[in-house]
Amino acid sequence: MRTEHNISLKGLNTFCVEVKTNTLCTIEQEEDFSNKELQGVFKERNFLILGGGSNILFTKDFPGTVILIRNKGKKILEETDDYITVEVNAGEEWDSFVKWSTKKGLVGLHNLAKIPGTVGATPIQNVGAYGAEIKDFLQEVKIIDLESGREEILQNKECKFGYRDSIFKNELKDRVIVKSVIFKLEKFKNKIDEKYLSYAGIKEDLLGKKINPQNIYYSISKIRDSKLPKVEEYGSCGSTFKNPEIAISEYERLIKIYPELPKFDTNDENIVKIPAAYILEQLGWKNRKEGEVGTWIYHPLIVTNYGEASGMDILSFIDKMKLDFKSHTDLDLECEINII
Ligand SMILES: Cc1cc2nc3c(=O)[nH]c(=O)nc-3n(C[C@H](O)[C@H](O)[C@H](O)COP(=O)(O)OP(=O)(O)OC[C@H]3O[C@@H](n4cnc5c(N)ncnc54)[C@H](O)[C@@H]3O)c2cc1C
Repeated sequence: MRTEHNISLKGLNTFCVEVKTNTLCTIEQEEDFSNKELQGVFKERNFLILGGGSNILFTKDFPGTVILIRNKGKKILEETDDYITVEVNAGEEWDSFVKWSTKKGLVGLHNLAKIPGTVGATPIQNVGAYGAEIKDFLQEVKIIDLESGREEILQNKECKFGYRDSIFKNELKDRVIVKSVIFKLEKFKNKIDEKYLSYAGIKEDLLGKKINPQNIYYSISKIRDSKLPKVEEYGSCGSTFKNPEIAISEYERLIKIYPELPKFDTNDENIVKIPAAYILEQLGWKNRKEGEVGTWIYHPLIVTNYGEASGMDILSFIDKMKLDFKSHTDLDLECEINII
C-alpha cells in the first residue's frame, strides 16, 4: 500500500475541484486490504473510499484519509457454451472491462459503455444507462467488512439494488469496501434482445451494420460522446439528480402545468418516474451558466465545471436548481452525486 500526505485530489475527481486530503492510501494489490496501517484508519472512522471520483463532489479539504482503490485484474471463473463468469477487481477501469466483454462477444454491458469510474463503484449506485443496470449482470460482490476485517460475499439479491440505489448506500454505507465484482455474462448467439436497442438513436446508428455487442458498444459510445461532456475536457459527474419517482396522482397534478411531461413505468403500478431534465429545461436550466459553473449545452441534468469553480460554487448552483424545481413542482430533487 502506498501512503502519501497532504495530497491534492484535483486529478482524482472528475469535477476537477482543487481540494486536499491529509493522507492518501492507495490500494494496489490483494495484501493491501489487510495492511495494519489501513486497519488503524478504519478504526478511526475518518476515511473516504475513492474510485474514479466520477460521482463525488468535494466541497472542502478532506481532513482524514482517502483510500484510493486501484487493485487491478480480472479472471474467468467459469466458461460454458452459454455464459462466462468473470471476477473483476474493484480498481479496474469500468469502460475497459466493458470493452473487453464486448470483444469477447458477451451480451449486455455494451449499453453501459463509456461510464467513467471503477468496477468497484458500479454496485454502489447500481449504475445504469440506456435501459440496462449493473444488477442485470452482477452475480456476487466480494467485500471487506471494515469492522471485522473479514472478506465476505454478497449475492445479487442481498445487495438490495434499486434505481441508483443499493445496500451500499444505506445499511452498509462506510462499513465495507468492495474488493471485486463477479459478473455472469451471456454469450452472443446471433440475436440481441430488443430491450438493448430500444433507446433513441441506437437503431438508427446501427443501420447497415451487424447488430452485435461490439457494434452496440460503438453506437452507444458515439451517442454519449455527442450528448455528454468529455471528462478530459470539462468537469462533471454526469447526471446530478435522480429522476423523481412519484405517485400517479402527483403526475396528474403536474401534467396540468407541463402537458407533455413524459412518464415511465416502475415496478409499482401506482408510481411513475418522470424525467427531471424535461422540467428543468422548461425552467431554463439547459446551457445556463453562472460564473464558471453551469449546466451542459445539451443537458440540464449535467452540472459542469467550465473553469476553476470550487466545490462550494458547484454546490450552491446545485442548490439553486433544487430550489427552483421545488418552487415550480413542489417536488424535491434528490442528488445522485455524493457530496462531501
Ligand atoms: C460524464 C459522466 C457520465 C456519467 N454517466 C453515468 C451513467 O450513465 N450512469 C450512471 O449510473 N452513472 C454515470 N456517471 C456517474 C459515475 O460515473 C458512476 O456512478 C461511477 O460508477 C462512479 O465510479 P467511481 O469509481 O468514479 O466512483 P467514485 O466517484 O470514486 O465513488 C462513488 C461512491 O462509491 C464509493 N465507492 C467507490 N469505490 C468503492 C469501493 N471499491 N468500495 C466501496 N465504496 C466505493 C465512494 O465512497 C462514493 O460514495 C457518470 C459520470 C460522468 C462524469
